[in-house]
Amino acid sequence: MKVQISSLSPEKTRMLVLSEEQVRSFRHYGVCPTCCTAQDPVCLTRLGWFDWKSKLEVVQCQNCDSIYYANPPDSEQIDKYYQEHWNKAGGKNIESDAHVGTAINRKMQRLLDNFCLAKDSTRILDVGCGLGGMLAGLSESGYSNFYGLEQSHHRFAAAAKRYPGRIFDCGYRDLNDEYLFDVIYCNHVLEHIYKPSDYFEWLDDRLTHNGVAIVCVPNVQWEQLVNQILYIPHLHSFSAKSLKKAGERVGFTSVFWLDSDRKDDLCAIFFKNSDTYRCFEHINLNSTAFADLDDFPDISLSSQKDRFKNIWARRLGEEHSKTLINWPSANNIQLVDNDVQRWDSYTVWRSQWRAIFCLLLFRKRFAFRVWPQLNRGEGLINRLLSTPKRHVTDYNHLVFTTLGNTEDGIPEITYRKKAPILMK
Ligand SMILES: [Zn+2]
Repeated sequence: MKVQISSLSPEKTRMLVLSEEQVRSFRHYGVCPTCCTAQDPVCLTRLGWFDWKSKLEVVQCQNCDSIYYANPPDSEQIDKYYQEHWNKAGGKNIESDAHVGTAINRKMQRLLDNFCLAKDSTRILDVGCGLGGMLAGLSESGYSNFYGLEQSHHRFAAAAKRYPGRIFDCGYRDLNDEYLFDVIYCNHVLEHIYKPSDYFEWLDDRLTHNGVAIVCVPNVQWEQLVNQILYIPHLHSFSAKSLKKAGERVGFTSVFWLDSDRKDDLCAIFFKNSDTYRCFEHINLNSTAFADLDDFPDISLSSQKDRFKNIWARRLGEEHSKTLINWPSANNIQLVDNDVQRWDSYTVWRSQWRAIFCLLLFRKRFAFRVWPQLNRGEGLINRLLSTPKRHVTDYNHLVFTTLGNTEDGIPEITYRKKAPILMK
């Protein structure tokens, strides 16, 4: 399927577009960046103009099921994103950003409380601690031996102001080799790292003998497809299987925490020493807050391929349309198995109908106010008035127009003859 992206509201869409030359210069991973398996990954989507010889590829590992850019944008492009967008506030409004005591701040404390750790002596490290919110949660609940690590300078400054001497101003690899920790956690950081496998090796080095690592990432089962394909900072999408395999490679045993406030949160706990794991099992024998891999109905390799293909092939009135717009409303994670992602697919009214509509209403301001409501959904009026091949996500006001089939059936996406990358 050939798909062209355009933007309904360019002012609301931040996009970085890459030329063929740039894409050609990006290096391919030699092995899977998560599990280090050497076999060829399966291509799910390509980004770039259809005639290009080199395109940005979104692929899936056949061993661990992780999804990633086979040839991710180089660090120059990634840095550009972080400098221009991620750090856009540049340290302004930092005080108002640094809320303490919210649910998200208490997440790690709630998780760690299951482990019955000594609150005064257990050495804890938060990798990518941001403004220090989660450390504040730990502190409030009595943990006192905690540290943070933050690469962004203004976030570091804010966290260090709150916890002087406890925050390291560096990336994880630059941390002094002498430091060891009993618990190392990172909350929604791993998907931003070029090589997750390197991070696991580093964890193995930095954890004490009975050390525990906690890794929380967006769950691929709940992550928007648009995010997986186009959102540049998320270089990887993981399932429970991906994380388990990544941990196994360095000898870790893993379980998953099911009690996060966010349903789209995948939280894995890794034990460096299997004795610690056994002890932990005993503590939580009756707990429903933890599960092993068997409790996660991972999206299989084949269903991912179909999902990527079908999402673009969707037409109004076609049989499979229902399976693609489903956002599981129930909290039962099993439901995700058959219906995958939120894909609010609106129809776009033909421009002449829009003009007539505005004329009829006479009052332009009113027309614009009700316009978004009328544009939503797939009611009878929409079906009569819309162009069936165009679909709009509620995500950054993007329009996806399908143009035809590619030779091998793998979806290809372009934006003005460039490779599109979203910046949110
Ligand atoms: Zn892999």
